[in-house]
Amino acid sequence: MRDEFERIFGAAPSGVWAAPGRVNLIGEHTDYNEGFVLPIALPQAVRVAAAPRSDGRLRLYSAQGDDVVTDLLVDRLAPGAVTSWAGYPAGVVWALREAGHRIGGADLYFDSDVPTGAGLSSSAALECAVAVAFRDLYQLELTSAELALLAQRAENDFAGVPCGVMDQMASSSCVEGAALFLDTRPQPSAGGTPTQPSDRGTSAGGTPTQPATVLNYRQVPFRPAEQGLALLVIDTRVKHDLGDGAYATLRAGCERAAELLGLAALRDLSAEALPAALAVLDGHPGELGPLVRHVVTEDERVVRAVELLDKGDFAALGPILTAGHASLRDDFKVSCAETDLAADTAVAAGALGARMTGGGFGGSVIALVPQELATAVEEAVEAAFLAAGWAAPKVFATVAAAGARRLD
Ligand code: ADP
Ligand code: MG
Repeated sequence: MRDEFERIFGAAPSGVWAAPGRVNLIGEHTDYNEGFVLPIALPQAVRVAAAPRSDGRLRLYSAQGDDVVTDLLVDRLAPGAVTSWAGYPAGVVWALREAGHRIGGADLYFDSDVPTGAGLSSSAALECAVAVAFRDLYQLELTSAELALLAQRAENDFAGVPCGVMDQMASSSCVEGAALFLDTRPQPSAGGTPTQPSDRGTSAGGTPTQPATVLNYRQVPFRPAEQGLALLVIDTRVKHDLGDGAYATLRAGCERAAELLGLAALRDLSAEALPAALAVLDGHPGELGPLVRHVVTEDERVVRAVELLDKGDFAALGPILTAGHASLRDDFKVSCAETDLAADTAVAAGALGARMTGGGFGGSVIALVPQELATAVEEAVEAAFLAAGWAAPKVFATVAAAGARRLD
C-alpha cells in the first residue's frame, strides 16, 4: 500500500487504514423500517493509504478504479458533482464538512478484496475506510457509530443511493468474533447515556456539530467454528438491474404502510398486532400486507437469533435463516432464481440453514454448515448452477472479522 501510494502521489503516506465488507446474518430490509439487524464484518476489506493535504485538494486513486487520479477541491464538493466511483469517498469528505468538521484535503490510494456489487457492501467499506482515515488524519472526535452515520449520509445524499445504516454500521463498528446486534431506530443523543463504551478519538481538531442522534448496538458472540460449524458465503455473481428501482419502491411501500397504520415506522408493529394490521391494509391498493408481514416477522427473527447466539445455540439458528429466506422470497419478493437455488441446494446438501443476504435481486447467499459438509455443500451448489446453465458461483467460508481500523 505504501509503495503504491508513493508511486502515484510521489511522497509517503501518513498511514494505512482498512474497513471491511459485511454479510448480514438476519434482519433484511428492516433498517429503513427502524428495526433490527445482525451483520458480521468480513475479513475482506477496502484498504486506504492516506496523507493529509493543506491546499484543499482531494486526490483519489483506486487499484479497482478507472486508472486515473481523480483530483477534486474539498470546498467545491457538492451532491451530484462526482458521478464515478470517487463519489463515495468524496461524499464522506463532504459529509464530514457538512457536519462542521474543519478538515482539509488528502491524497488517498485504495486497494480492496471486497467483491463489488455482490451484496457484500463494498461501497460502505469504501466510505468507512475514508471516514476512519480522516478521523485519524485530522484528529476528529467521532465514535464508530458517528462515522457510520456520516458514511451513510455520503451514500444517501452525495452518491444518491437511498440505503439504510446497516452496512456502514457493520463496517465501522463490528468486532472480531461477534455479530453486531443493531437497533436502527435513531435515539436522541441529548441527555442520553450511550449503551456502549465511548470509542472517541483523543483530541479534537475543531468544534464539530455532533450528529443529533445515536444508535444502540451490542456485540453478540459469533464463533461457529467452536461448535464445528462453518459460515459459507455463496456469491451468485448475478446482479439483476431490477434491484435499483425496486429498492426505492419497496422502501416507499413500507413507509406508506406505516403511515396507513398510524405508526412512526413498521418497527412499531408487534407480532400480536400483525393480523389486525393486515386486515386494515387489505382495503388499500398495492401489495402492502406482505411487505409488512416480512418486516414484522424479520424483526422477530433477529431478536430470536440474538437470544440463541447468546446461549451458543447454533443448531436452532439454522431454521431461522431459512425462514428469513422464505419471507424475502414469498412476502418481500426480492429473491431471484439464483439465490433461491443456492439457498435450497445448500439446505438439501446438509446446511442447517441458508438465506440470501443483502438487498436482493442477486448478490450473495449465506449458509451455516457442519464443517465436514462444507465441501459437499459447495459442490452441490456448483453442480446445481451448472445444471441450470449458469456460471458457477464463488463460494468461500468466512468468520466474523474486525471493523474499520488503522493498520499501519
Ligand atoms: P456493494 O456495496 O454491494 O458492493 P454497490 O453497488 O453498493 O455494491 O457498490 C459498488 C460500487 O462501489 C462500485 O461500483 C464502485 O463504484 C464502488 N467501489 C467499491 N469498492 C471500490 C474500490 N475498491 N475502488 C473503487 N470503487 C469501489
Ligand atoms: Mg453498497
